Amino acid sequence: MIWRRFLCSALRIMTGPRPVVLSGPSGAGKSTLLKKLLKDYENVFGFSVSHTTRQPRPGEVNGKDYHYVTREEMQKGIDAGEFIEHAEFSGNMYGTSKAAIQAVQAQNQICILDVDLQGVKNIKKTDLDPIYISVQPPSIETLEKRLRDRQTETEESLQKRLNAACIDMELSKEPGLFNLIIVNNDLEEAYSELKEVLAEEIEKAQGSKKS
Ligand code: ADP
Ligand code: 5GP
Repeated sequence: MIWRRFLCSALRIMTGPRPVVLSGPSGAGKSTLLKKLLKDYENVFGFSVSHTTRQPRPGEVNGKDYHYVTREEMQKGIDAGEFIEHAEFSGNMYGTSKAAIQAVQAQNQICILDVDLQGVKNIKKTDLDPIYISVQPPSIETLEKRLRDRQTETEESLQKRLNAACIDMELSKEPGLFNLIIVNNDLEEAYSELKEVLAEEIEKAQGSKKS
């Protein structure tokens, strides 16, 4: 009995819980949803902290929200093979380092990544095997309102994000690209959908922590 339990937990540690990729237009609500998950399941989920060349927004913390780097630093890391994926989005570079994922997996937590559509496509070429979830706004008008109300963008970056959003909203419909598309209209409903699709992984992760 003890031996079997030991084998089961060893196997779970070896395979680990499946990571989760959240994607979707800027302003759709990815950070809001993932912050709720991280708060409600503190020890179950861990955020893969990406690198970016964009400036931190008020309240964002280096090393927690992003690793803020220069283009030169980012390019050096990419050339050295330190990133599993990287992309140019709205005039800045973004990327997921291998170290960011390993840091979460070392804690035996479910690793959550927040990446754009290019990131999704590039992660599909790796052996990460995550659950892919797209968070979409109810409409482009609602998205624009949310982005304006967030007060984080200049008019120029807002327009770039809206253009990128139109492309994202269209391309995300590709059959099989995502395991689930959540339309984030009512936040609590969207959060319930997210928890439901992750229920099995949450249970596995919680189980492996108990044994
Ligand atoms: P993303 O991480 O996808 O760029 P955010 O999580 O920052 O988007 O959300 C964009 C803005 O919209 C934030 O100000 C957030 O508080 C707000 N927001 C998120 N979800 C909803 C919702 N369901 N209803 C109304 N406002 C929302
Ligand atoms: P923001 O500047 O609003 O934080 O992020 C802008 C976009 O970059 C979002 O669509 C977000 O999902 C994406 N993003 C954030 N980190 C990464 C990353 O590591 N890789 C990729 N490909 N996209 C990212």
